[in-house]
Amino acid sequence: MSDIIQLLPDHVANQIAAGEVVQRPASVVKELLENAIDAGATDIKLLLKDAGKILIQVIDNGKGMSITDARMCFERHATSKIKKAEDLFDLHTKGFRGEALASIAAIAHVELKTKQENQELGTSIKIEGSKIISQNFVNTTTGTSIAVKNLFYNIPARRKFLKSDTIETRHIIDEFQRIVLAHPSISFLLHHNDIEVYNLKNSNLRKRIVAVFGSKINEKLVPIEEQTDIVSITGFVTKPSFSKKKRGEQFFFVNDRFIKNGYLNHAVISAFEGLLVQGSHPSYFLYLKVPANSIDINIHPTKTEIEFDNANALYAMLRATIKHSLGQYNVAPILDFNRDANLDIPYQLEKNSSHISTPKIIVNPDFNPFKEASQKEIHFPFNREKHIQSWESLHTSVETLENQNHDELFKNTQEEKIQKTFQIQRKYIISLIKSGVVLIHQSLAHQRILYESFLESITVKEANSQQLLFPVKISFSSSEIEMIYTLKPELENAGFSFDEFTRDSLTIKGIPTSVTESKISIILEDLLNDINLEVPETSYSHFDVMAKSFAKTLSIKTGTFLSEREQESLVNDLFSCKEPSISPTGKATFKTLTLNKIDHLFNN
Ligand code: ADP
Ligand code: MG
Repeated sequence: MSDIIQLLPDHVANQIAAGEVVQRPASVVKELLENAIDAGATDIKLLLKDAGKILIQVIDNGKGMSITDARMCFERHATSKIKKAEDLFDLHTKGFRGEALASIAAIAHVELKTKQENQELGTSIKIEGSKIISQNFVNTTTGTSIAVKNLFYNIPARRKFLKSDTIETRHIIDEFQRIVLAHPSISFLLHHNDIEVYNLKNSNLRKRIVAVFGSKINEKLVPIEEQTDIVSITGFVTKPSFSKKKRGEQFFFVNDRFIKNGYLNHAVISAFEGLLVQGSHPSYFLYLKVPANSIDINIHPTKTEIEFDNANALYAMLRATIKHSLGQYNVAPILDFNRDANLDIPYQLEKNSSHISTPKIIVNPDFNPFKEASQKEIHFPFNREKHIQSWESLHTSVETLENQNHDELFKNTQEEKIQKTFQIQRKYIISLIKSGVVLIHQSLAHQRILYESFLESITVKEANSQQLLFPVKISFSSSEIEMIYTLKPELENAGFSFDEFTRDSLTIKGIPTSVTESKISIILEDLLNDINLEVPETSYSHFDVMAKSFAKTLSIKTGTFLSEREQESLVNDLFSCKEPSISPTGKATFKTLTLNKIDHLFNN
């Protein structure tokens, strides 16, 4: 047979990559604004026509590009921001993937004009569907202007998928607000169809918030400030008495980057405990600065999600700081007997912040390793039929281990058992195998387990649902309600049951058994965020996003102590998965360290 594998041509590869980077006009806005900021601009203009469907133009006064760079910037993986893989762990720019311009140029008509300060003339380049149409010298000011016209002109399916101008404009305004709030010292202008929407002069944070949300917000802002070894927190929350019926303006920035994080959101909300009227939401604008190497912003292509090394400590600090500020500013509590149960922090957390999301792992309390072999099955309560072969041969069977050590151990007490797993730094689990050890990332492993189980319940068979004693009412914006309503069948399969949908609230009367009541609103909020980010196109990817989102929200986190039994169940569950080796987001869940490799380490 002849060979059939070939490399995809660049323009096709770029179009595929564009699917990840560019979902809608707002994604282009985000990428172009971020590039302007990375270029050191102090003045940035955004011009739109028809919700960005016809034109998105960003004009900046940044450092501009040389003639060669102007050409290079449209190549895939062309970036000036990182040079080697290690740079990824110490990022100080918004971009770094070198994908945005290549992707945008693959699916639109793009016109670039750029000039560096020391150049007499600038460069102008026209490019359509990855093809350079023209390149000329041009008389222009220092900085860069990029005009993106007729987005998705060559992908009709995606163009059709775009929502109404109102909705696409809303998405753009959301992105714009996130960026202007992260950079109050930069001036921004936004024109839509030649009408001025925002004209923001460079200023400080309070003034920027007021310029974006109106002067009424000024009196509502309570400043937040805290400095510790691992984080500096600044910003504002709104006084509880001004909290809104609809989820208001809620912004987290980490190192000047807007992020979404249900866990930190929960920390803020819980600081308002006892101060909020039922179903109301505070606004917040919170700026966290952490060492660049203590976060991982690589986990999502559009980078609104990041992973913290010390999420639990951040949670506790954020909550305490806000509580303190609310107290200092004499914010009198409102007595409210119908307080929303969803605003309660999990019981465990009150006692000890390191126990935030202990997984529900069922163990057999009667387990005794010295009992007959026939009893040993019970030891693996999660051992599903599909327990994979390779794992069976990999893992030292209980039997082997026991026989080896039987005599020796029997001298000790009957109850004592052989420890086969160990937890290190509340992050990894070490499990002994025949040929060495397996190192398991507890959080990623748990995500894989939950992901498969949710995917199964959403797509194949309905999950068990637990009825709530008191139905829980949660407020959402009308667009969010609309979204949840369209996902209702899948949510029901996953174990949710709903009572009433109104324009801005819904009532839940049953939840999946793996979810606790206090997590209901977090899980739905995270789901909405994730769905918004992914913009799934097929119903399958809807399921997938949902299962991923639930898995991520509910998984045990780094920092959670696991008892030996919980460790073992986690290990067994993981290796009962169809695809145990990678997390739902594509990261390794475990690594094997064979005796050979270990020997090698000492072979010096
Ligand atoms: P990334 O931002 O990840 O590096 P992009 O595709 O967004 O990738 O941009 C590629 C490169 O083009 C950037 O690294 C930068 O060197 C250059 N560039 C893009 N936009 C601008 C701009 N507005 N001003 C100056 N240089 C720019
Ligand atoms: Mg970029």
